[in-house]
Amino acid sequence: MDYTLGVDIGTTSVKTVLYDVKGKVHGYANNGYPLYQDTPDMAEEDPEEIFSAMSDGITELLRKANLKPGELKGVALSCAMHSLILLDDDYKPLTRAITWGDNRAVKYADALKANPEGMEIYQHTGTPIHPMTPLTKLIWLRNDHADLFNQARWFVGIKEYILHKLFGVLKEDYSIANATGMFNIYNLDWDDQALKLAGISRDQLPELVDTTYQLKGMHEEYAKVLGIDINTPFIIGASDGPLANLGVNAIQPGVVAVTIGTSGAVRVVTDKPHTDPKARVFCYYLAKNMWVIGGPVNNGGVVFRWVRDQLCAPEKVTAEQMHIDPYDLLTQIAAKIPAGSDGLLFFPFLGGERAPIWDANARGSFFGLNRTHTRAHMIRAVLEGIVYNLYTVMLALEEVVGRPTSIQANGGFARSALWRQMLTDIFEQDVAIPESFESTALGAATLGMYSLGLIDSLTDVSKFVGTTVVHHPNPKNFTAYRELIPIYIRLSRSLEPEYKNIADYQRRHEHEDEAAQKDASSSKEQ
Ligand code: ADP
Repeated sequence: MDYTLGVDIGTTSVKTVLYDVKGKVHGYANNGYPLYQDTPDMAEEDPEEIFSAMSDGITELLRKANLKPGELKGVALSCAMHSLILLDDDYKPLTRAITWGDNRAVKYADALKANPEGMEIYQHTGTPIHPMTPLTKLIWLRNDHADLFNQARWFVGIKEYILHKLFGVLKEDYSIANATGMFNIYNLDWDDQALKLAGISRDQLPELVDTTYQLKGMHEEYAKVLGIDINTPFIIGASDGPLANLGVNAIQPGVVAVTIGTSGAVRVVTDKPHTDPKARVFCYYLAKNMWVIGGPVNNGGVVFRWVRDQLCAPEKVTAEQMHIDPYDLLTQIAAKIPAGSDGLLFFPFLGGERAPIWDANARGSFFGLNRTHTRAHMIRAVLEGIVYNLYTVMLALEEVVGRPTSIQANGGFARSALWRQMLTDIFEQDVAIPESFESTALGAATLGMYSLGLIDSLTDVSKFVGTTVVHHPNPKNFTAYRELIPIYIRLSRSLEPEYKNIADYQRRHEHEDEAAQKDASSSKEQ
């Protein structure tokens, strides 16, 4: 039997899945690492910890699978987008991996966005101007940490760093490069205007290759640890969002993938690059003539987790006593409330927001509360609010690529039938949930199998995803949503001018609280 390993290097862990050529899973490993957040704006990871997690995952899985020599045909990679590591002349890291969630470049991102050059750059890089991107991180480092910036010989992401360690070459796939904000989507090359702004040159960046590119000849020391023959090809693969579309079989025109995991996204594949005159959506490379257009949201399941932990402590205790998952108890409670939560709306922007409003200052709110509303209404309104927000992302996407023909959904939210039905009713379209597991790793493995010639076309993924559950819109529910969605959209516009004011207030008070705590502890020490 021929096998391919799909390796998904994510924000919190590396997921490693072993597939045969029919897409059947033969082993799974999940190896985590910490996120370093010394300040609220910082989000870093240690490249060595990620490398060890990946190496442990592969070693452990292959040991258990006990394959015969030659049965492992290849290892295909997916990776989280937007990470940045500064390397010295010897390819040693001068920084940790600064991840997509790091907001320290916000001042420079805001300034670039306010400048017409920001829009120009978005139009040829397909990457919204935002502190998540290596482009704005480089502008920040060059201005605020010039010594560090000037020491750097190379600027890479986590996947490039890992591959350099294993193979001794610096290569970057079009998809990860695309998400740096410095890649020209029309000529598949680094973008001169963006590089100039970042203050770096192309000889400080890895060599660009297609997502099907294979690396061979791994350093022997690592091959031994991993338990892999040095000639086993590593397929460089793409970034995680585009590969998730492939992994849920949303690669045909008009098939939209909606993900609600910790964060969320709405994405569709097209055969050529598209950008949005209003700069609300991204355009990222997946494979030849396949571009993923979409919008990422910060506020997915993480907001439901906040409800569980901050609003529903009593329900959490009850769930523990009943030996059920607290999320299941909360969705049972929400199911007793009618669609539309009796007119209670929720804006889920607890973590600022990316698409569609692209406002790091956005904050959450309930609107329409009256005395008859209960905690159950609030739970339901939160689940609905997360979906309303994704729906507005889809409306933006529709303006760029037209109305979707069908919707495939995935992510942790799919464990709840209520939440799945809500998505179906709010989007007012059939929603199919593939049963496949770890969509991104499956996407990577599929691209890997294609590169290795084990399958003829990426569309073979349709055989791998397994059966799907299909939900149909329920008129009893969608009539309520039809009335409420326009209110949500109008309100969303009227709240916008106040976000900065309230966020500034919160930041000022955060600092005052920190200062007061410092004063209190230093006076204690004295
Ligand atoms: P990640 O994005 O980190 O890979 P998941 O896709 O597993 O994570 O999504 C995690 C989110 O899924 C949780 O924050 C929660 O909102 C949601 N979730 C998990 N279990 C359930 C459940 N039983 N019912 C409803 N939502 C759930």
